[in-house]
Formats: sequence, C-alpha cells, structure tokens
Amino acid sequence: MSELSELYQQVILDHNKKPRNFRQLETANRKSEGYNPLCGDQLTVYLQLEDDVIQEVSFEGSGCAISKAAASMMTQSVKGKTRAEVESLFTEFHRMVTGELDEEGTPNNLGRLTIFAGVREFPARVKCASLSWHTLHAALTGEAITTTENLGPDINVDHISA
Ligand code: ZN
Repeated sequence: MSELSELYQQVILDHNKKPRNFRQLETANRKSEGYNPLCGDQLTVYLQLEDDVIQEVSFEGSGCAISKAAASMMTQSVKGKTRAEVESLFTEFHRMVTGELDEEGTPNNLGRLTIFAGVREFPARVKCASLSWHTLHAALTGEAITTTENLGPDINVDHISA
C-alpha cells in the first residue's frame, strides 16, 4: 500500500475497515461471484435490477484492502443508475486503472473513484481494483461466475458459466 498516496490510503483503509453495503441482499434478482486468484480476492455482488435500473446493490466476500474498498465504493457509485450508465462507468474505471484514460484531462463520471488511478502503476493491483466491477458486469449480463485468472492487461475477462 505504500505505493499509494497517504490520502488515498486513508480512504481505502476506511472502506476496507467499514465496507459500505457489505451484506447479502434479500431482494436481489441478480448475483455473481468474482475471483482474483492472483491475490486471493473473492466476492459476491448482489443486484436488485428493476426496469434496467439498479435499485439496490451489495457485496460480500474477502480479499485485500484494495479489492474490498473498490467493491465498497463501486456499490456507492452504481446505486440508482441505469445499466447503460453503469456499463459506461465500468468502461471509464477500467480505462483509468489500465492507464488508457487520463482522468484529470478527460471529462468523465468517475468522481471519487479516481482515487484508484494509482493502481495503474501496479499491474497486479489492477485486478484487485477492478474485480468488483467485472463481477458487477457479469451480474448485469447474467454470468454467474467471473475470474480474473486469464485476464490480461486489457478488458478480456474470462467469463465462466455456472
Ligand atoms: Zn487483491
């Protein structure tokens, strides 16, 4: 974690310690599990999707501070958004952490999620930061399980059907 600035570390540690929306969701009608074998991160994302809008979202799981904080902040960022808005945000987030998007020079909707920009310097951490987003994407597209195992630096997630 020493690679991240102190402020960013504080936000990440706070979300790691007190993850938001960290629970099962009784009303969920979508659910997906995500695994990042490189780091040992695993999480389940629950969605209550109605008329293409995420009414409720939550997650459970275990992993490193970055994966947990990223999942916590992901749930805060996507609640109330449409599927299209969320997919667009997922694309922006992924492009930011892989270094394709200059979050300071290019207009975007990332907001506080830009604290994860620093992980682009650390390829192994990119998967930690993006695991919850890939899992969310999988839940939206009906995939039950996602793994970053064969995930290259690009966006090619290996989706495994249950
Ligand atoms: Zn991790």
